[in-house]
Amino acid sequence: MGVHTGELKLSTRGDADMVDITDGVQRIVGSAGADGGMATVFVRGSTAAITTMEHEPGNVADLQEVLDRVIPTRGEYEHNRLNHDTNSHAHQRASIIGPSEAIPVAGGRLALGTWQQIVLIDFDDRPRDRTVTVQVIS
Ligand code: ZN
Repeated sequence: MGVHTGELKLSTRGDADMVDITDGVQRIVGSAGADGGMATVFVRGSTAAITTMEHEPGNVADLQEVLDRVIPTRGEYEHNRLNHDTNSHAHQRASIIGPSEAIPVAGGRLALGTWQQIVLIDFDDRPRDRTVTVQVIS
């Protein structure tokens, strides 16, 4: 069994910025030289998430709108009250979507659907620098 670890560094605009990181993840999978295995994609931090979606402007706008309705940016949040903070909505959204995805690798490539991209969502209420760890186990 082999383990290959790589990192992607990127800057986001925050406020539910949704960044397609598929090419960067595939680059790391390629450098692992693995024919088959599993790639875990994980973002460090408690206000960002990793998911998969068809990354096009309509879906991006719709998911942002759904999240605004379900977990509004403003509200009576204990995290904000107790910590004099403003980003509880970002923490709640990040926990619900989750910090990682595990994606099978087949034939040296991520086994994604044609219209399925790996997306980093930054929920924080300001621009952030993010580190995404990609670990390939083969
Ligand atoms: Zn906070």
